[in-house]
Amino acid sequence: MAQVTDHGGGVRSISVPIPDNPLGHTLVYVVDTDRGPVLIDTGWDDPASWDTLAEGLAACGTSVSEIHGVVITHHHPDHHGLSGQVREASGAWIAMHAADASIVRRTRENRPERWFAYMAAKLTASGAPEEHLAPLRDARKSARPSTLPGFSPALPDREIVPGELLALPGRRLRAIWTPGHTPGHVCLHLEEDHPARLPGHGRLFSGDHLLPRITPHIGLYEDPDDVTVTDPLGDYLDSLERVGRLGPAEVLPAHQHTFTEAPSRVRELLAHHEERLTGLLILLSTPLTPWQLAERMEWNRPWDQIPYGSRTIAVSEAEAHVRRLVKLGRAEAVTGSDPVTYVAV
Ligand SMILES: [Zn+2]
Ligand SMILES: [Zn+2]
Repeated sequence: MAQVTDHGGGVRSISVPIPDNPLGHTLVYVVDTDRGPVLIDTGWDDPASWDTLAEGLAACGTSVSEIHGVVITHHHPDHHGLSGQVREASGAWIAMHAADASIVRRTRENRPERWFAYMAAKLTASGAPEEHLAPLRDARKSARPSTLPGFSPALPDREIVPGELLALPGRRLRAIWTPGHTPGHVCLHLEEDHPARLPGHGRLFSGDHLLPRITPHIGLYEDPDDVTVTDPLGDYLDSLERVGRLGPAEVLPAHQHTFTEAPSRVRELLAHHEERLTGLLILLSTPLTPWQLAERMEWNRPWDQIPYGSRTIAVSEAEAHVRRLVKLGRAEAVTGSDPVTYVAV
């Protein structure tokens, strides 16, 4: 049976499973409007997840075919995976921020081989050893788009414009642009009194931006066509402060569980990243490549026990922190080093 929670005030959530993933579930929110239910995120593209979503909607007294629209917090497959199928079944529109919509467009246009080649080049530049690069080369040879999840995401029909109200008849849902986890991540502020009159300003659908017990992954924005030097961690920290200032009465995140006290959670996360940056500066008293830095950073387990895919994520997280330190003038690239090393200044 699908797990459905009634959050009051015409908002429910369905816990949609993510297969083979420690995160477990995506919370898909169902917001009642005068024109039918609107979904915030849809869940992973998998038959079992689809069945759970359909069962959950039935438990809410509606069905997939009744969905009026789909609002996507960001393009990741655990959020946007089922959007195309929902649209097919209902004729619903799909709305997404332009920055994530262009990632979707490029993902659809690029062949997986190009993606693997790009990742291999990027990891080589960050100092990854040969044994980490070889599997990418093999994947490049055997990749078939149809066998890879997330390589044909649905193109959205509408753009989510930061600061504007979404066209949800009878509701006040405002888009708050919160780049960092992805360049086009949005939180959605339901500017209505909390149904239980909790103190604060409405409710915030926070996607992956603000979660109660985990910190979202902040890596570099991975885009084979973009050569601008972005600072995702800087974006994320700014976005956190923005959301903290909103002071929502309750946060409805896309994973784990709802919570109150958003400003104190924001402070915890800001302190966590500040601590991490300080720790990195100590490590960077000797020049290190991002890969060497990742090996020396603290993770939830020792480096030699971190599986392959998570190492790729860890090194991109290390790079995002180095990028931040460089932007702050607290670290710099060592001239002439190849792969490039960074040192504290
Ligand atoms: Zn995500
Ligand atoms: Zn997620």
